[in-house]
Amino acid sequence: MERQLPRSSPADDRPVPTVTGSAESIAGSWSAAAGSVSDGRMHCLIVEDEETIVEFLRTGLTYEGHRTTVAADGEAALRLAQEQTFDLVILDVMLPGIDGLTVCRRLRGSSDVPIIVLTARKEVADRVAGLDAGADDYLTKPFSFAELLARMRAVLRRRGQALEADVLTRGDLSLDLERHTARLDGRPLDLTPIEFALLALFMRHPHRVFTRETLLHRVWGEDHSGAVKVVDVHMSRLRQKIGEDHRGMIRTIYGIGYELREE
Ligand code: CA
Repeated sequence: MERQLPRSSPADDRPVPTVTGSAESIAGSWSAAAGSVSDGRMHCLIVEDEETIVEFLRTGLTYEGHRTTVAADGEAALRLAQEQTFDLVILDVMLPGIDGLTVCRRLRGSSDVPIIVLTARKEVADRVAGLDAGADDYLTKPFSFAELLARMRAVLRRRGQALEADVLTRGDLSLDLERHTARLDGRPLDLTPIEFALLALFMRHPHRVFTRETLLHRVWGEDHSGAVKVVDVHMSRLRQKIGEDHRGMIRTIYGIGYELREE
């Protein structure tokens, strides 16, 4: 895929190159997306100047079937918001030029688009400032993609929209994304948050082979520097909990990664 990142010079008033992308359809007979965000796919505006975070967000959102447009500074974000319609804005507070909170206030002045603010700071005051500026929610860096999806779900839910169905089901396995509970053959599965996030990712993308690196990136987060071995450890525990009756459910692709199979 050809990728081009916007320049980050706030003084440059030439048109900012934008990046759009979309993933292949979310396959199969898995629970379909529901609600008023058309078919569950959104056009997301990412406002961030750090390229690693932009790539992390773009890759994850594209993978989930959403379309993304990137603005590397506040001016570009405000201009794009006037020119196009977005279903969600992911807005970093620390931007060159106009800061994220000011961008948030200005966006709010003309639009009720859902806004999730990214902050690198842990101070309560900064989070409050984000919400005061009109943001729907915030995420503190570093965050995992699973956390972002959870915030997106929550934000859209509060607005009476749905990002996807509340419960992912396949055969005898079901995951309640709202309550964070899992059931297999009618019995509850006691999963850790990591195991739950792994299983949710597999259930959203059946028959897709995930490399360990991708799982590490998607479930643990964009700045995770751990060894991919940690993925094997958690996958092994997840398999134990799923049990012998369903041992074929998660398949190891040797040397590559894992896949969720129809049994
Ligand atoms: Ca930034």
